[in-house]
Amino acid sequence: MSGMKRIWLAGAGMLAALAGGLLAENIENPGFENGLEKWDAQTAPAVAFETGRDAASMGESGLRVKVISQPAAGMLTSSRMPVEPGRVYRLGYWFGGGVVPAVASIEMVFYDENGVELPAPQPPPGKKARTVATGGKAWTGYELGAIAPEAARTAAVRIKPMSGPGGAVDFDDIRLEEMPAPLDAGSPLPLDSPRIQELKAEIQKNPTRGKEPPRVVIKLDDLKPGPGGGVSPQWQRVVDYAREKEVKLSIGIIAQYLESGNADFFKWVQDLNAANCVEFWHHGWDHAAEGNLKEFSGQPYERQKEHMTKANALAREKLGFAFTSFGAPFNATDASTVRVLAEDPDITVWIYGDPKNPAGKTVLRPSPIMIETRARPDFEAFLEAYAHNRGIDYFAMQGHAGGWKDDAFDQFRAMVEFLQGQGAQFVLPREFAGKN
Ligand SMILES: [Zn+2]
Repeated sequence: MSGMKRIWLAGAGMLAALAGGLLAENIENPGFENGLEKWDAQTAPAVAFETGRDAASMGESGLRVKVISQPAAGMLTSSRMPVEPGRVYRLGYWFGGGVVPAVASIEMVFYDENGVELPAPQPPPGKKARTVATGGKAWTGYELGAIAPEAARTAAVRIKPMSGPGGAVDFDDIRLEEMPAPLDAGSPLPLDSPRIQELKAEIQKNPTRGKEPPRVVIKLDDLKPGPGGGVSPQWQRVVDYAREKEVKLSIGIIAQYLESGNADFFKWVQDLNAANCVEFWHHGWDHAAEGNLKEFSGQPYERQKEHMTKANALAREKLGFAFTSFGAPFNATDASTVRVLAEDPDITVWIYGDPKNPAGKTVLRPSPIMIETRARPDFEAFLEAYAHNRGIDYFAMQGHAGGWKDDAFDQFRAMVEFLQGQGAQFVLPREFAGKN
């Protein structure tokens, strides 16, 4: 992608430019729309830098870094952008692709007034100045940070192939800019913004990259009866909305709380289940965490087995049916969970399971597209991830609807309505059973 990010940068970037007296917008050709133009490729026999449609996440072209054999060498360096010493810079990028994964590093490099490269920069707290990216996955956005060293006058982005002979990793949509101020966690999020409009326009140009529209699982976690044992207004609202829109939902129940449900709650669950418009799934017995110990991670096999089994015993007693899909609290599981699941006769689908150790279940892989980003529904972040992952066959997007206030609910509605406009099909986890 090329022209789009200039507009998006106009806010923070323009202020920084006015304050600093220089206009630093981004590196040139940051989305490889013009191939490797403005990038300096130092190639080696063991590696290749290619650009094209197969490596595109935005626009028509992206970068494919191929590792042909070991040892990998060579590097790709972007054009240089003016910087001011002491300021914090951000390198945002998307990576993924490549059927066989290879690994490449990505970093910010700084240069002095003579164009001489400076030693590796320091990152600001909580960030890394350099990291590695692995191919073979859905498109993922990531962000590095670095403090421009004292002598720095310009900065560039550098990508180095590392390992994974016969494989590749793709990069696209790179943005080097001054670190924007963090968003106030309390401020409402936009339902429309310049970036949302850009993303919608980008998606409209090529909605599914030649594939079918995706199947979408709406994965809502942490259902329990509300005060008095009934259905809370937040859960009632999201289910009513989904029924009105004829959108299927899946909802994870924390089983021990079924003890406190009243007759209305059980009838509500049973009716929705029978109508096949909501699937209720096994979200653990107590959802407990003690430090690093999670209900299904780090706990002994016997305890995990007991929690797996008694949740469904209680579901049968209170609801009249057993859960057939399982999604762990915190999505945290270990080898004992694999063993417990393999022995469990009820569960057929493992939501956000480990595709390498599926325990005999159909695994719904973790999703690159989520309802909640940084713990709250965020339509713009959803759309960003959706745009970069067009062509994905399915995804299970996660949220915690029991805590949604009005503005959070509005963000969720915008996602549903957008996906319906794209022809997405909303499905239940159990509809994947025996497939994949
Ligand atoms: Zn949970």
